Amino acid sequence: MNQRELPDKMEEECGVFGIFSPDNDQIGSLTYLGLLALQHRGQESAGISVVQGDTITGHKDMGLAAWVFKDYDPASLTGSVSVGHVRYSTSGDSCVENAQPLEAHCKLGSLVIAHNGNLINADIIRSLLEDGGVLFQTSSDSEVLMSMIARGASKGFEKAVVDAISAVKGSYALIISLDNKLIGVRDPYGIRPLCIGKSGDSWFLSSESCALDAVDAEFVRDVEPGEIVVIDENGLNSISHDKNNNLTTCVFEYIYFARPDSVIDGIDVYDLRSKCGEALYKEYPVDADVVVGVPDSGIPAALGYSQASGIPYAQGFIKNRYVGRTFISPTQEIREKAVSLKLNAVRSLVKDKKVLLIDDSIVRGTTSRRMVRKLRQAGAKEVHIGIVSPPVSDPCYFGIDTPNREDLIANKMSNAEICDSIGADSLQYLSLEGLLTALGRKDGFCLGCLNGIYPISTR
Ligand code: AMP
Repeated sequence: MNQRELPDKMEEECGVFGIFSPDNDQIGSLTYLGLLALQHRGQESAGISVVQGDTITGHKDMGLAAWVFKDYDPASLTGSVSVGHVRYSTSGDSCVENAQPLEAHCKLGSLVIAHNGNLINADIIRSLLEDGGVLFQTSSDSEVLMSMIARGASKGFEKAVVDAISAVKGSYALIISLDNKLIGVRDPYGIRPLCIGKSGDSWFLSSESCALDAVDAEFVRDVEPGEIVVIDENGLNSISHDKNNNLTTCVFEYIYFARPDSVIDGIDVYDLRSKCGEALYKEYPVDADVVVGVPDSGIPAALGYSQASGIPYAQGFIKNRYVGRTFISPTQEIREKAVSLKLNAVRSLVKDKKVLLIDDSIVRGTTSRRMVRKLRQAGAKEVHIGIVSPPVSDPCYFGIDTPNREDLIANKMSNAEICDSIGADSLQYLSLEGLLTALGRKDGFCLGCLNGIYPISTR
């Protein structure tokens, strides 16, 4: 259904990772490695909770995982079930109270939850629960879910989880520890990714398969849309809570968000991005001397374009990997300088050349504008832009930070106006058809940010 009239809202991006492994004194360290591998999914806070019987030991704080665990050894977190989370919120409630995992004690003992996604009816449920006297300690929608699971605990873990999940609407990839089990849940549309891994007797759940590689676990399979998997000493048991499930993976996971070395719902992210570069060449052959990718997410597509066209690929931008997030700088002038510090053009590769600059997407237009300026300052003769996705014209309500409608440049300008605004000689986007062909199937994706059609109604 068309949801163009929905209110605009900033959302959260997160990564979740969990382990079931009794008698494994490495559980805290392995979870930490998993979070490091998922760091691209959220840089604002990180946390790990480990459960042993009724005891939860955990540590979380604001910042990158390496910073959060700088003075706290993750190896000291021991138990049989672990849950980890990295978070990036953009909605203003950036505080340690909202950092995850969330921990509680209920009738079934310890309860830990980590959530990636966005619940669109959490406010209504929260208000009903508050009317009934429930107190909340955070403003996060995930606490609403936790409270509902805790309320249902006397019915047993399975019913408690199924009932809570049935009441919420939105996107969720959840990792829960309840009743000393590790539980993974994916919403009925599978909007956010979640996969299962195994190594010896240990089981893993992760937002992306790249984190399974980081801990040497074997990829078993993706959690299916609407599926609840329960892992304990008897192995993995699957409960499907919604028979009408319908895979609708977020297309932006493939375009930008996921790491290229991950495989999500059977699609290899690197391969897809490279194919998008090839497809863009077929749709948009540019007369250029070099193809340059915007680090990091534009690079596989730039290589794909280069291979298809025969135009040499050049590493036209060097990324300084030692500076973190830059937009916290207090003044615009310092912010601009910080961007220059982070990405710099290689003069010898672009000077006097016709450059085709490839990026995965344009959201506000800020990155493209800066990159064009940098290439011109470095002496590029012409700068053409190729974007390997269709225009981002609509906001995301399900967990990707594609912001307010009025901030989306494609919502207010034509392609020619965008090209003009970012100062490029030409601009071309990959068509939706081209993207879907590269993805290998026409159905099974949430394309809301590209066409305003969302899988879930908020009414
Ligand atoms: P913008 O600069 O606002 O046009 O955003 C586009 C650039 O940011 C591209 O280089 C993307 O790789 C990257 N990007 C796209 N979507 C997001 C997002 N949700 N959060 C952070 N960066 C993004």
